[in-house]
Order: sequence, then C-alpha cells, then structure tokens
Amino acid sequence: MNEKCAELLKKVINKKYHNISLDNLHYDNDEFYYEFKSLEQISEKELEQIEKEILKINNKLYFKLLRVSGVYYQGNEKNEMINRIVGKSFNSEEELKKYNAFLEEAKERDHRKIGHDLDLFCFSDYVGPGLPLFTPRGTIIIDELKKEIEKICRKYGFEKVSCPSLANISLFETSGHAQKFNDELFRVESPKGHKFVLKPVQCPHHAQIYASKIRSYKDLPIRYMESDKQYRAELSGAVGNSLSRVYAITVEDGHSFCRVDQVKQEVINMCNLIKDFYKRMGLWDNHWVSLSVRDYNHQEKYIGSKEDWDICEQMLQEVSDELGLNAKKCENEAALYGPKLDFMFKDALGREIQIPTVQLDFATPKRFNLFYIDEDGKKQNPVMVHRAVLGSYERFLVLLLEQFKGVLPVWLSPVQVNIVPINMKYHDEYAKKIKDLLLDQEIRVSYDNSNERFNKKIMQSNLMKNPYTIIIGDNEIKNNLISYKKYGSDQTISMTTEEFVEFIKKEIKNR
Ligand SMILES: [Zn+2]
Repeated sequence: MNEKCAELLKKVINKKYHNISLDNLHYDNDEFYYEFKSLEQISEKELEQIEKEILKINNKLYFKLLRVSGVYYQGNEKNEMINRIVGKSFNSEEELKKYNAFLEEAKERDHRKIGHDLDLFCFSDYVGPGLPLFTPRGTIIIDELKKEIEKICRKYGFEKVSCPSLANISLFETSGHAQKFNDELFRVESPKGHKFVLKPVQCPHHAQIYASKIRSYKDLPIRYMESDKQYRAELSGAVGNSLSRVYAITVEDGHSFCRVDQVKQEVINMCNLIKDFYKRMGLWDNHWVSLSVRDYNHQEKYIGSKEDWDICEQMLQEVSDELGLNAKKCENEAALYGPKLDFMFKDALGREIQIPTVQLDFATPKRFNLFYIDEDGKKQNPVMVHRAVLGSYERFLVLLLEQFKGVLPVWLSPVQVNIVPINMKYHDEYAKKIKDLLLDQEIRVSYDNSNERFNKKIMQSNLMKNPYTIIIGDNEIKNNLISYKKYGSDQTISMTTEEFVEFIKKEIKNR
C-alpha cells in the first residue's frame, strides 16, 4: 500500500509542479515520503489538492498526506533545502477514519493552540526561537506548580538552594558533563576574558554546596532542590512555537547526598514522593516503571566500578519489589554514572513519556572529592541520588494542557473566579465590591467590566476556561448574594459571599 501511494505521489508531483529535481522516494512500514526540489514552494494547504489528484488516479487507496517541510538534500546541512512530503497509508477506510479522528483530537489537545487561546506563553523572533516567554497567566501556573512540588519535597527533607546559570567550564569538565554535552553547550565569553558555559544540568553546582563545609555522618542525608533554567542546544533543525522543543528548560531538580546504608531508604522515599505528587495531579494511573540498567556487553563505557553497579542495580530491584513497582528491567538504559528507575507515563494521545526518575550515582562524589567524616573519623564518599519528580516545567505543562484540554483544576487556574455583571450600569458597584472581597481572600479573580453584551461575556469566560463565573444582577444585589456557574455546567447556584469564599477555598485547598 505504501509503495503504491508513494509512486502515485511522485507521479502527481511531477505533473503538477515544474523542474522537479534532486528527488528521492522512500517508504517503510506505514509511512512514505517524497523529497524533491521544485521551483515552487509547496505549502500545507496544497496537500489536500495533491491527495485529491492521487485519488483521481486510484480511488481504492487509504492514505493521508501528513505534512510538508523543508529538509536539506541528503540530510546534509551544506546542501540546499528541498521539499519533503510525508504520508501515511492504511489498510482500510475504517483505519483511515480512526486515524483522522485521532488527528482531530490531537489538534484540539495541542498545547500550542491551548497555550495561545488561554494566553499562557508566547515566542518572539527578537528573543529567539526555542526561548518561550511565559505571560502573567502562564507564570501563575508555573509558580503554583513550583509551590506544590516544593511543599511535597519539603516533607521529604529537601531544602531549596539557588545557583547561577553560569559556571566555569572546569566544573562540567570535572563532572563529565562537558564531554557528554559537548555539542550542546552554550559557551559564554566576555570582553574581559571570562569563559563560562550556561549550565546544562545543576548537579555539579549542588555538589559544590555540599563541598562548602565539612560534613559528618550524622548530617546525612543532605537534600537540595532547585527549580531553575538549564540550557542545552540539543536540537537541530527548526525550533517552533512549541514548549516541547526549547533551548531553555526550567528543570525541577533535586539531589540527596547520603551514606551507602541510607541509599535504599532514600530511593524508597523518592518513589513515594513521586507517587504523592502524581496522585495529587491526577496522573498516577497509566504508568509503568523501568529499571534502567547497564549494557552488560559494554560495561567499560560507564563511570564507576563494577562492584558499585552490581550493588546499585540489586538495590533498585529490591526497592521495586518492596514497593510493588513491578519495574521492568531495561538493559542499556542506565545513565552514564549509575542505574535508575524511570517512570513512564502515557499522555492523553497514548504517547509514552518519561518524566520522573531516581538515579543512583557513586561517580560524581568521587570526581569532586566529596566526603563526610564517618564514626571512626575517616573520610568517606557519600552517594549522590539524583531525582526528578515534575521534570521540566515546560514539558509538564504540555502534559497537563493536553491531558486536561486546558481545563485546569481551580488551584492551578490563572483566574479562579471571573465576575460578570448582567448590566454594567446597575451592577458595577456591587460587582466591584465582590471582586475586592475575593481579592482580600487571596482568590485569583478577574472582573469583566468591558462593554460587551452579557451573553458574550459568559461565552468569553467559558472560552478562557475559568473554573467559576460569578453573575451579578438585581436579585443578587437585593438579597446580598452571588450566583455562580461552574465551568462545564449549566446550573446556576446562589449563596452568600461568605459561603462562596468558604466553598472555593476548600476546593483550592483540596486540589
Ligand atoms: Zn542531577
């Protein structure tokens, strides 16, 4: 099927456009593509027409042209840009229909669209591609997530630290990240001779805070957390208006420095922490855990001794058994410096994403000569446990927006209550009073005092997916009440302002 579709695509393109050259036809299991140079630039809009023309030749084909993009000839950046049209074929009309429905769903859930419609983030050509700017509304969500994750982590003994975005390259040379991220480092120089890099990770910074004073065995575990920007030029090709492809990511990061005899409990704590957070976010179901271990055929490529690795992998297996994680052993998936437990989630469209992770690391403390004084007064290297719970705020926001189609729980919503007076002339004063009252209670409230018609304001409030819309009219003023509509419900409920404050505060608190 793919072969047929590909051949016809080529035929139609060669008939429709002129001076086709440098072309290449390719197909595999379910996708096919045709690369070619033409005088004309081909746009997405033309795909539909091309589809029609293919069907004119053979109407028994079930396929869809997915996208057209610019690629370098033969994948080489030094060559010129040519067109690439990608298509997908199906065995039956039913399969094709199902796929189209999936695409519709994906479009509706697309975080780029939701982010734009709800005014959460934007991009600027002046600032640069891959560098998202969060609007006031988007920043509220990020801040609320930060507060939430920090609150949970504090319960597990994490303390907040704060490090600069720059560091001497030697920091990352010692940690091994300079080699690992060589092509991905942003290097920063000043006319005064500074040579810095923007941090691609913050583990080495945290290691230096640990190293800033002598630690005793009684001080451990020492746990640091930090949500900060990290910079990696890991992407080649086009970076668009998507939060999934960025150069600056805000990473929620945490490290625990502990004794060997504490490692297991520490890993258990972090797994529980991850469970706490994801349960609270309503995302805990639908995941599986990978016990990511070495490539046993190439043990030389890892940092650290074979004995340490054996102990670590065994320990993670025990944690999995004890917590009932049912972790699947995945060879060749370990980090350079140690094995890890990776939590894999399915997003709303069934795509798999890995976010939380717990990683053991015997190597970094040795590289930086980190130590503590043990009971016998001797120096010992601590073990470093890296953990990510939320991962990066950008990717997590993608997950949330696509999962909930932009309908966020009250505690995360940029605006929690929107006030709409029925008639500005008569109800403005009372509406303003309600607004101030809610603001005093630290509820995020907006007031639509525009000149639009009432119905339009209600529609607008729904489009912005405000959890609660308060309606103020004669009846409310006369009886000293407020009436509200909950997002997604047609029901209007009336109560006193005090009752409403109590009700919504409870809902915010309960998550
Ligand atoms: Zn780390």
